[in-house]
Amino acid sequence: MTLYRAEGIVLANRDLGEADRIVVLLCREQGKIEAVAKGARRPRNRLVGLTLPFNHLRLALFSGRGLDEVSQVEGIRSFQRLRDDLLLLAYGSYLAELAGEFLPEREPCPEAFELLLESLRALEEGKDPEGVTGFFALNLLAMAGFRPALTHCLACGRRPAPGEESFFHPAAGGIYCLTCPRPSGAFSLAGALRRAMEEALAGARDFLVPLTPKDRRSFHLLLRAFLEVRLEKELRSLRFLAELVGPDERK
Ligand SMILES: [Zn+2]
Repeated sequence: MTLYRAEGIVLANRDLGEADRIVVLLCREQGKIEAVAKGARRPRNRLVGLTLPFNHLRLALFSGRGLDEVSQVEGIRSFQRLRDDLLLLAYGSYLAELAGEFLPEREPCPEAFELLLESLRALEEGKDPEGVTGFFALNLLAMAGFRPALTHCLACGRRPAPGEESFFHPAAGGIYCLTCPRPSGAFSLAGALRRAMEEALAGARDFLVPLTPKDRRSFHLLLRAFLEVRLEKELRSLRFLAELVGPDERK
């Protein structure tokens, strides 16, 4: 057994046996890992609180033949507010679910760790949750190798003019211009929205601000389709979010 140190964020946990929990962590240096937290369901054990999702932790872990085991843990930031408010919980769970689904195990990606930490902070500080989660989703997709192809038509290679409408095809992962046949399952993509998505991928966190409610709505629909076609399943956190705000209320 070797002992190593890690800085991680709890993405999820699940019960193990009578008293233990398995925690899924996104670590700055090690990437996504799973580890056993012994006694994390015993009343008054401090691991009960520290193994809840969104906790930012400093840890010491043992690695051996089976799952790694948490040896020591110290909280850096709990993000308690995200668990106390149902709507923030839904948005935070969306971030955690995306990170859990799209990042491979034990492949270091410090950029993804920083992106998650920064996004949790922004949610807790009251930034627009639609902008925070949209920025996170687009950039996480890019880090996971699924960057949407927004600059050139996938069929003819033409670059649409600024402001020109195009089609976005979730399964193909990019755009088609209006002079090419519209593929089935494609979404209309306004020029302003295409530009906003490119800006988000270039680092603009406030990319939703200039958009109309209609373009924001269309962003959510095509992003959801893009995510779910890649995962080949529905995202639980998005269903939870839709139950809270209503599928047609997001703008
Ligand atoms: Zn074309």
